[in-house]
Amino acid sequence: MYDAIIIGGGPAGLQAALTLGRMHRRTLLLDSGAYRNGTVPHAHNLLTNDRRDPAELRRLARAEIAVYDTVEIQDAAATEVARIDSALAVTIDGAPLRTTAVILATGLADDLPPVAGLSERWGDRVANCPFCHGHEFAGQRVAVLNASDHAAMLAAMLEPVASEVLVIDPERVREVGDAPVGLRLHLDDGTTEEVAGAFVGPTSRQRAPFADQLGLERQQSGAVRVDPFGRTSVEGVYAVGDMAHPDHFPGPMATLASAIASGQLAAVAVVQADAQARVATPS
Ligand SMILES: Cc1cc2nc3c(=O)[nH]c(=O)nc-3n(C[C@H](O)[C@H](O)[C@H](O)COP(=O)(O)OP(=O)(O)OC[C@H]3O[C@@H](n4cnc5c(N)ncnc54)[C@H](O)[C@@H]3O)c2cc1C
Repeated sequence: MYDAIIIGGGPAGLQAALTLGRMHRRTLLLDSGAYRNGTVPHAHNLLTNDRRDPAELRRLARAEIAVYDTVEIQDAAATEVARIDSALAVTIDGAPLRTTAVILATGLADDLPPVAGLSERWGDRVANCPFCHGHEFAGQRVAVLNASDHAAMLAAMLEPVASEVLVIDPERVREVGDAPVGLRLHLDDGTTEEVAGAFVGPTSRQRAPFADQLGLERQQSGAVRVDPFGRTSVEGVYAVGDMAHPDHFPGPMATLASAIASGQLAAVAVVQADAQARVATPS
């Protein structure tokens, strides 16, 4: 019986594991190895780690967590989360493991617009977030490949950073290839545009089925509805990182720093719930 099982070994899950380890709670972290920033060579905008390779961040985090004996990390995929009586059960390799709390940190997966050449460059010269990958194109032309209402906002955010922002409907782009510096966009009228980088609006979806399995309440954004401590609509189940959307935010706050903060807060809530149970039933 674990105090907590964390599903997800990105920044949100790893921070939750660190906090629970420091409080000596029996914790299992499961990681199937599918990270939202899996194609990104350098992560940005994370204090003391600006420009660090995300894989290196995860390696450093695991080394820090290894100091704490009550935390076990398994590179394995969970397949099911269910309630069994007063406990929760997480299934891996067909075997259910019992736990008092489950922290879901399974993240989002992105579907890119169907333009040839985009996915190969995703996370490097093609990105979605100007806070993460804007400065890298400073003083150069960039494209916003987005026809939604959000395109004007994105372009306005980038104006002080880039020399020029081209807003193009992705349906007009036949193919994205390499230019001597940056990208060459091949348009449907036969012309080309050269830009240092491009921003797209992917369609993001829950990477794992657990929110559906547990019938967790969702926000309009599709993310799991949580309170500021990551509590979901099902007791004992917490959701953190990109997959979660607290009421007080307009959407999921999808950055490394936010994921880390939410992982820590949910772990604090798990420890508080455990402490309340100990106060109510002294051993
Ligand atoms: C292209 C791109 C570039 C980005 N660049 C930056 C940046 O520079 N700076 C920044 O702050 N943010 C950046 N982000 C955002 C950042 O990557 C996310 O906010 C962050 O990774 C969210 O962390 P997370 O822990 O919620 O999820 P993730 O990092 O996606 O981790 C999800 C975890 O869940 C695990 N998992 C999923 N299903 C299962 C299962 N069934 N069983 C076990 N484990 C499972 C996965 O294996 C993984 O370990 C970028 C995002 C994208 C798409």
